[in-house]
Amino acid sequence: MTNLSGRVALVSGALRGIGLAIAERYLAEGASVVLTDLADVHDQDVASVLNRLEATASSGANSQGEPGGKVSYLKLDVASEADWLTAEKDVRARHGRLDILVNNAGIDCTGAVDTLELAAWRRIMSINVDGVFLGTKTFTALLTETGRTTRFGTSVINISSIMGLVGYTDTSAYNTGKGAVRLFTKSVAIEFATKRIPIRVNSIHPGFVNTPLLQIGMRKWVARGMGGSAQELIDQIAAATPNGRLAEPAEIAGAAYFLACDDSSYCTGSELVIDGGWTAR
Ligand code: NAP
Repeated sequence: MTNLSGRVALVSGALRGIGLAIAERYLAEGASVVLTDLADVHDQDVASVLNRLEATASSGANSQGEPGGKVSYLKLDVASEADWLTAEKDVRARHGRLDILVNNAGIDCTGAVDTLELAAWRRIMSINVDGVFLGTKTFTALLTETGRTTRFGTSVINISSIMGLVGYTDTSAYNTGKGAVRLFTKSVAIEFATKRIPIRVNSIHPGFVNTPLLQIGMRKWVARGMGGSAQELIDQIAAATPNGRLAEPAEIAGAAYFLACDDSSYCTGSELVIDGGWTAR
């Protein structure tokens, strides 16, 4: 596949899990990557992630033998429009372009519908749905300007879930939010394509992925008496998955690379399901 040399990507929720794996993959493919997350820029976690990724960037010479891309970090709460506007100004000033926007940040939320607090429902919508809308809205102008200078335009990649495709017990809030991300993606893809705005918009639907979000989610299920241990629940999920295992974050990053690069030039409004066969049944 083509590499991402000379391109600039912004990934939300990039300090761990799937977002971090995507940032790592883009750097290895030669892009400059702006990682964003909730932590303060001076946080020790930020320093250690940046140090590790800088090593990837400098060792990741691309196929043309050019040095790897650069990595930077911005504090960005995806539910805050003010944070998005600050990020847009920063990316514009620092890079003058944006080729790839990955709306990845998301939180988990479980609870039976009759006991779920309205505040919990609204919190998940504000991060998992508003966050995707605000990111797309705020960067549309810069993505359009950048897209007019490239052959196949720019790319927005929204991380939905298999939970945006099928229901699951006690996850109505998460299902609803991820379903909204799926259809927001298709709607905006059509809006841009028909107006000849050079931005492709696609969603990725991971199955169960071995990340902190999943581990923490399983511990919450155990606390509610739904299993003996987090590992026991994870083993059950793996056994219930047709290919018998969870995904690793790097396997989702591969899909995010495809949707970012020119090999996906005709993909817009599409949904890429990476789930070990979970929704094929
Ligand atoms: P993760 O391990 O929890 O990482 C998510 C990152 O996003 C964390 O660094 C988190 O920060 C950050 N974050 C949380 N709220 C935020 C906010 N308001 N603004 C900015 N950043 C925020 O999660 P993950 O498993 O990698 O999931 C990434 C995406 O994939 C999510 O959208 C998730 O719904 C989706 N997904 C995950 C799975 C799975 O099985 N893991 C499956 C399908 C889809 P803190 O650590 O400070 O909270």
